[in-house]
This record gives sequence, structure tokens and C-alpha cells, in this order.
Amino acid sequence: MPNLDHIAFQSNLHPMNKGGWIEVICGCMFSGKTEELIRRLNRARIAKQKVEIFKPSFDNRYHETDIVSHNENTIRSTPIQFAEDMYLLTGDCDVVGIDEVQFFDHQIIEVCTKLAANGKRVIAAGLDMDYMGLPFGPMPHLMAIAEYVTKVQAICTICGQPASFSYRKIESSATVQLGSVETYEARCRTHFPLQMKKSPKQ
Ligand SMILES: [Zn+2]
Repeated sequence: MPNLDHIAFQSNLHPMNKGGWIEVICGCMFSGKTEELIRRLNRARIAKQKVEIFKPSFDNRYHETDIVSHNENTIRSTPIQFAEDMYLLTGDCDVVGIDEVQFFDHQIIEVCTKLAANGKRVIAAGLDMDYMGLPFGPMPHLMAIAEYVTKVQAICTICGQPASFSYRKIESSATVQLGSVETYEARCRTHFPLQMKKSPKQ
């Protein structure tokens, strides 16, 4: 996995440099996206940088105001309904973390762009593909405009090889289906069923 720690470190060494940037952490369910987000945000805090963390307000699987990764590392976050809400809430912070970013609408792209243009380090973590194996919401666009993209992998529950797909174990056609171990499994390409080859709605 590429390590971006040196970038933040260089930024600390050059406080006059106001340039911001966008980092995307993506992958399937159980790939450690949120853990990686939390790791980067904690390091920024240790460096005495001001950090704000957001997530879509309807993702309250575990706790209303904390980002909770599957290994239960937690970090306090602010649930917001609209991406634009971040303009008011980021103020003079240095680093903006966003979890479950795939659930925001395409406005998130402009918001991340403006925050980075205003000198902020934006770190967005989210699912790159939905349960059908199709690109998820704004993620393809975010990955394209980001300076740094980290794709993390889970482990296939069938064969133990690296996994990039989120297999939904229950019948449902809703793209936005929150859930965890009971609902989803990480699968490699070989073990990702071809029911997922439905054509995208475009
Ligand atoms: Zn497999």
C-alpha cells in the first residue's frame, strides 16, 4: 500500500504552502478503508493539525456520531445530510475526513474540489463498487480528480485470496443497503457470482 505519510510531513515543513489536495481510500466491504482513514486522521492530529470528520447522516449502523470501523477503532464524526454542509463546518481546519463518501450525491465532487482549492487536505473513504460490481455513485469521479488513490483489498471468504467485490448474501435490489457481516461478504473476482452482470442503469 502506498504510504502518504511523507506528504503530510512535507506539508508540515512548509506551512506557507497553502495548496490542498484530495486523497481517496476505496475498496470493497471489510477491506479496511475506515481503518486507513482513521489512521491518517490520527496522525494528522498528532501533528497538531485541525481535523474535521463527516459521514452521511443516514449511516447509523452502529453509532450516531462516531465513525466505527469493523475492528471498532472509533473517531468522532459529524453526520451531515448534504455535502454542502461541509462548507460551514470545516472553518479553519487543515484536514477534512469523509467516511462512506459513496453515499453522497455528485455534489460531493464540487465540495471536495473547493475544499482542496481552499488549502485543505481532503481524505475521502468509500466503496468503489456496489453489490453488482458497478462503480458506486460519485466514486469514479472522485478517484479521477484525486491526487492520491489508495485501493485496499479484503480477503475472499471462499478462497482466502485478495478480494475486491462486495457480495450481498440476501435478496434485495436496493443499491443503498446498509449492513455488515450478516449481509455482505468480501469475494474475489472468481467467487463473485455473475448475477452481478446486470447492465447498469444509464
Ligand atoms: Zn475467492
